[in-house]
Amino acid sequence: MLLKSTVDSTEHAPSYYASSVNWKTDYPKLDSDFTADVVIVGGGFSGVATAVELCERGYKVALVEANRIGWGASGRNGGQIIGGYGSNPAAFKSSIGSEGVEVVEKMGTECVEIIKARIEKYEIDCDLKWGYCEVGLKERHIRSYRDWAEDDSAIKLLGQDELKQYVNSDRYIGGYYREDWGHIHPLNLCIGEAKVAESMGAKIFEQSKITNITYGDQPKVCTESGSIKGDHLILCGNAYMENLVPYLDARVLPATSCIIGTEPLSEEQIRQTLVRDVAVCDSRTALDYYRLSADKRMLFGGLANYSGLDPVNSTEIMRSKMIKVFPSLRDLKIDYSWSGKMGISLRRMPQIGRIKNTNVLYISGYSGHGVAPTHMTGRILAEAVAGNTYRFDIMNRMFHMPWPGGKLFRRPAMALGMMWYKALDAI
Ligand SMILES: Cc1cc2nc3c(=O)[nH]c(=O)nc-3n(C[C@H](O)[C@H](O)[C@H](O)COP(=O)(O)OP(=O)(O)OC[C@H]3O[C@@H](n4cnc5c(N)ncnc54)[C@H](O)[C@@H]3O)c2cc1C
Repeated sequence: MLLKSTVDSTEHAPSYYASSVNWKTDYPKLDSDFTADVVIVGGGFSGVATAVELCERGYKVALVEANRIGWGASGRNGGQIIGGYGSNPAAFKSSIGSEGVEVVEKMGTECVEIIKARIEKYEIDCDLKWGYCEVGLKERHIRSYRDWAEDDSAIKLLGQDELKQYVNSDRYIGGYYREDWGHIHPLNLCIGEAKVAESMGAKIFEQSKITNITYGDQPKVCTESGSIKGDHLILCGNAYMENLVPYLDARVLPATSCIIGTEPLSEEQIRQTLVRDVAVCDSRTALDYYRLSADKRMLFGGLANYSGLDPVNSTEIMRSKMIKVFPSLRDLKIDYSWSGKMGISLRRMPQIGRIKNTNVLYISGYSGHGVAPTHMTGRILAEAVAGNTYRFDIMNRMFHMPWPGGKLFRRPAMALGMMWYKALDAI
């Protein structure tokens, strides 16, 4: 695969979401010096969800975004609302105990409930649809579904023929359906939540990149033209924060994923593909994920790349992936093609913590699964600011490991690891 380095614009990526956004945000640049109770860096779901939770608790919040609200992964992802908080909380039993594992497992359900309640409470217009299928290509995938279904009554197992009533493709040998997960227009949810925070008094700034942090009793962040001090600072820049805090940079690997959006499907094309309007993921490590938009386009994503570069011909690669699943879409026009960066943590668990003994908190590393979990994070961080650190402490006890190999070798090391997983996917 040929790769290229891309320089991101400070406006939204050329996605289907940017072209169908409910309104274009135009918050001011930070160009003065002031004080808030809590300063948040990063206007993705982690930042805006934290802002909403804090405003609901009565805090004076300032949120600073380098580009536009939802500009990062949050405004350009697959839009799939999938429960679970991190991969396999039980793997952390030695550091958080059985009670901690149970708490994190419950958070995997609560994160979806938060999105549902927030959209309802504030009437956020973001094309919410319930229904999700995971689809299997190998017998071992089907065996996992059977195991999971024993502990989770929401899972409805589907044989190959039954699955076709949801996902009409010959590529899969079975799957499962659940109606408590689903999909949304992520950019409209993100800007909708920012508006909710603003309506409760949050000060929001766009096109304002934080270039420096001064630590202390009242940490201070600076852009080239202004600064804000707060009792707490919360860093939500995730995969896009670069080297602002070297400790965090060492602990998150930005990996690219690509999505295409087709022209709208006809009724007949829908019958031949996504018969039910569900979100779909397959069970491989290098997975395909897809769904229909509100105006019935196929939004088809995948192609994770850990080199930090974008594939040169990602549109063609994604089209051929889509046609493998749905050959009948062969002649469909591709109207949109974009990519985004997800923050991968070494242990595939969101990293919530505190920089040394300061009141600077952070979150990063959802590892490709953050639409729902970011909303849980917002609650945990707001609880911590308000003095209830029970769930924050559990997350903080999971040791956040740096990527081995340092800045120079962590990407090649991860790329090699992914090649290994792709080889396993193929067996
Ligand atoms: C292509 C793609 C598809 C995905 N699909 C799904 C999916 O279907 N379901 C799912 O659950 N998850 C999915 N994910 C993952 C999910 O989108 C992320 O986990 C989640 O959006 C992370 O949100 P965030 O707020 O932590 O980070 P981001 O949304 O990346 O936000 C970080 C923000 O911080 C800002 N920032 C960074 N540095 C600074 C600075 N110095 N000053 C000011 N601002 C700064 C950036 O501009 C950015 O807007 C996908 C990710 C990608 C890239």
